[in-house]
Amino acid sequence: MLEENNLKKESVQDILIEGEGYSSECNEDINPGLILRDFLQKLCPIQSDTGLSFISQIDYSFKADGALSELVYKSTINYLVRRLINTAEYLRRRYESDDFPEGTFVQELRSYLKSETRFRDPDIEKIISIIQACLSVRNQRRKSRQAFVKHKKQIGRAYGLLCYICGKSLSSEEEEIQVEHNWPKALGGSSKYFNLRLSCKSCNSEKGSYIDGSDFHYEHICLSTDETNDGFNHELKGLYRVALSAKSNYRCTLCEGDVESVGRLRFVRRNPNDSWHYLNIDAICEGCFESLSLSENGNG
Ligand SMILES: [Zn+2]
Ligand SMILES: [Zn+2]
Repeated sequence: MLEENNLKKESVQDILIEGEGYSSECNEDINPGLILRDFLQKLCPIQSDTGLSFISQIDYSFKADGALSELVYKSTINYLVRRLINTAEYLRRRYESDDFPEGTFVQELRSYLKSETRFRDPDIEKIISIIQACLSVRNQRRKSRQAFVKHKKQIGRAYGLLCYICGKSLSSEEEEIQVEHNWPKALGGSSKYFNLRLSCKSCNSEKGSYIDGSDFHYEHICLSTDETNDGFNHELKGLYRVALSAKSNYRCTLCEGDVESVGRLRFVRRNPNDSWHYLNIDAICEGCFESLSLSENGNG
């Protein structure tokens, strides 16, 4: 059995205050994982003064207007978030036990960051405090059955009984309804109301602990069929649909309405002469799709 997590005794807020510069920004309604990602972006900005990188060159060659560079950048930062949190959890499991004096885990985490990164000491201290907050929410116990049902009702009242990812109606089958962490719990997502949404079983399992669109395997999403082909729905599998909805943050790309209010999203191409691939696919609502087709027919 796993040892009790000491971090649980402190609130996220207490831990964040320790990190210099975070006292003014700290807020209970923010995911520690998100704070870690924002901080990494600050430490490693997308703009560098080293001139064109290989990825900027590919972006330029494929006329991606910066979208490919941004995608690779976001995906890499997500990798760093996952790597730091999971490495810290690995060290915690190893050093936070009766075999080691109290505080060994944080010491080990500090020496790991000092030897394996080139960040400055004050930044390393900030990273340590944010990571502790991430592990604190990650290792929080599951809610009681009662609290879970209460949450379900509360979210249902606020957003309606629709899966926030695919828009499927959840009203009929009670068993189908899952409470989903929008920012994954394992990667520093809070279990408080602001980070919870309702989803269907299959979207919940496809989404797993992916953070956002750039976190899925976007490089796999390159179809060889067209919408009019029989194989299209087979090729655009469930995981890809979830990834493409995540790309627009579960909103219609055009009217920006969230899935719970605009219903099921459908997928369209930006450039109809190009194939169906991650950068060329947008998720839009039925309403926007209809007005698009109307205006196209009107022009034609
Ligand atoms: Zn769903
Ligand atoms: Zn729309």
